[in-house]
Amino acid sequence: MKPQNLIIDCDDTLWENNRFFMDAHVRFVELMAGRGHDRARADSLLLRLEMENVPRYGYGAMSQARSMADVYRLFEPVPDEAVLAGIDAIGRAVFSHPVYMLPGVEETLPLLSERYTMVMFTKGNPDEQLGKIEKSPVKEYFSHVKCVPEKDPDTFRRVLEEFGMAPEETWMIGDSPRSDIMPALANGVKSVYIPFSMTWALEHQELPESEHIITLDAFHRLSEILL
Ligand SMILES: [Mg+2]
Repeated sequence: MKPQNLIIDCDDTLWENNRFFMDAHVRFVELMAGRGHDRARADSLLLRLEMENVPRYGYGAMSQARSMADVYRLFEPVPDEAVLAGIDAIGRAVFSHPVYMLPGVEETLPLLSERYTMVMFTKGNPDEQLGKIEKSPVKEYFSHVKCVPEKDPDTFRRVLEEFGMAPEETWMIGDSPRSDIMPALANGVKSVYIPFSMTWALEHQELPESEHIITLDAFHRLSEILL
């Protein structure tokens, strides 16, 4: 049976996102290597600190930049202000990166919006996320936008409650097993998992076998099952 409501993830589901963070990561490692520091160590330290810092710094470009500054201070306990400014600039560039829609999204969303009530559901820094949403050409197709610090079963349940959406009448669509699919499953909501090659490592998780999870290889294929 088809649902009435669609809750749709934004980053790496509607538009490219993680590649900007990956590019910034590489720029930081090169910056450290250029100062004579070990490239592999800069790379692994940044990965580790980014994961460890999520509870303190949250998600997003400036959180990544703060982790870069932390790594830099491990290499140079007396930091150079110009290097710190350079790291800040890397973060700002990611913060306001251009929004490139993923293939099929702009063609499919208008069709879905004629039939479903749709919610954009995203996590991270509200200013950063809302900036991308404003820049995107698809905001008009959504009835609601919700940005939370973390996507988990509890925040997912609250979104259902806030918008008065019954679990059995709602589907979740996203690229992240951990942040999109598992929270939906925990709330009895069917989901469509659309894997993306550049999804952040921290978002990966083994998915259980479930009749509540449909996997598609491209966004436009939603029209095959929802229209
Ligand atoms: Mg995503």
